[in-house]
Amino acid sequence: MTELICVSCGYEQPAPEVCCGAGVPGKDPAKLYCPAGENHGFADMPEHCGQPMKVVANPGPSEHKGEGG
Ligand SMILES: [Zn+2]
Ligand SMILES: [Zn+2]
Repeated sequence: MTELICVSCGYEQPAPEVCCGAGVPGKDPAKLYCPAGENHGFADMPEHCGQPMKVVANPGPSEHKGEGG
């Protein structure tokens, strides 16, 4: 899942829905794109503290946590 972070205060939030699903980063860092394709749909990057948020880089392959407990 794509996460966004505020460059000013560090607040993080999941990317909002764009067109067909959760927005994904594309060629323009000021926008979020439809997961179905950059030419399918896009939206302006949400703002926090008066500035556009940034996409948090994925730390790597997703880890699988143990379930139950
Ligand atoms: Zn779409
Ligand atoms: Zn902020």
